[in-house]
Amino acid sequence: MAAEPYGGHLVNRVIPERERERVLEEASRFPRLEMDMDTALDVENIATGVFSPLKGFMTKEELESVAHNMTLPDGLVWTIPILLQLPQRPQFQKGDRVALTFRGKVRAILEVKDIYTLDLLTIAKAVWGTDSTEHPGVNKFLSRGEWAVGGEIWLVEKMENPYSVWLLEPAETRKIFQYRGWKTVVGFQTRNAPHRGHEYLQRLGLEIADGLFINPVLGWKKSDDFDSLTVIKAYQLLINTYYPVDRVLLAGLATAMRYAGPREAVFHAIVRKNFGCTHFVVGRDHAGVGNFYGPYDAHRIFDRLPSSIGIEVIKVSDVFYCRKCEGMASSKSCGHSEEERIYVSMTKIRKMLAEGELPPEEMIRPDIARFLLRHYSYQGTSL
Ligand SMILES: [Zn+2]
Repeated sequence: MAAEPYGGHLVNRVIPERERERVLEEASRFPRLEMDMDTALDVENIATGVFSPLKGFMTKEELESVAHNMTLPDGLVWTIPILLQLPQRPQFQKGDRVALTFRGKVRAILEVKDIYTLDLLTIAKAVWGTDSTEHPGVNKFLSRGEWAVGGEIWLVEKMENPYSVWLLEPAETRKIFQYRGWKTVVGFQTRNAPHRGHEYLQRLGLEIADGLFINPVLGWKKSDDFDSLTVIKAYQLLINTYYPVDRVLLAGLATAMRYAGPREAVFHAIVRKNFGCTHFVVGRDHAGVGNFYGPYDAHRIFDRLPSSIGIEVIKVSDVFYCRKCEGMASSKSCGHSEEERIYVSMTKIRKMLAEGELPPEEMIRPDIARFLLRHYSYQGTSL
């Protein structure tokens, strides 16, 4: 049995196929609201249960509770605002039904429960711990507008997504886990191509559970992270060349990175529980950016949540290559001094690749590095 969905049951807000025509006909009389990509992806995540127990975009009451108490109003832990933000007051009213469109086509129906203004800087400070526009997550939040609309949604039709073959819904991953006989599954969050540190954590997962679910973010990321297709292909290479393929499942998570560090680690764990994971890996500076968060803030937050989120969190400290151990290790498993340790830095790997150099093999496997090097030569052409 996979993990129970967060909040008890998997939310399903997808309009059945047979009802679609009728709903679309009805929706042709509703006011329309065009969504941006992030919002359109969140609609799909809400509808398919990725964000269970959420059934829609947050009202002011829900947002304030999440921002200041890290819980939904009913007390269930939730750490990241899921908002439909707008630059100005919308034309419709509370109680209206609205047709949410993406690229001009109706994708979902919103039952408007709340229309409100956001105190952007206060929310940013509460959620991200800063209101600095140097922070890519905060900068994005501030730029998306100070109005918000809350209410439940119904998905009519998903958008055309170039990554759709890489996406699975929680109902699907749960079936796969069951079919493969996995009772315990470790979820692994990533936004980047795999280096040796990631591999060390994934192998830990493979040692302790029946299966490993590698679930890279295929949504908005800051411009110096690898693009989604490159990440997926690099993972395919790693899995097919080195891992027991029947013990690993690779699928993307189509949502924007928020770079909210510790709060996003909790959000990422909840989402993986909805996919059916029983365990979730949180490494050093999970979902962090620059020096905005302490290296282990994302570990400590799990100890001060108001209640348990019901997924086993595997907290792993800094992973490095140790010359004396002749392999990857962490400060929990290696007794040698700092001079023997080579820390894996994605920033350094990227910099070297961008300059056409192969990074040290203690940091990244040469075959993966050569694949990524080719990615840099594609850049500028359409990949
Ligand atoms: Zn050592």
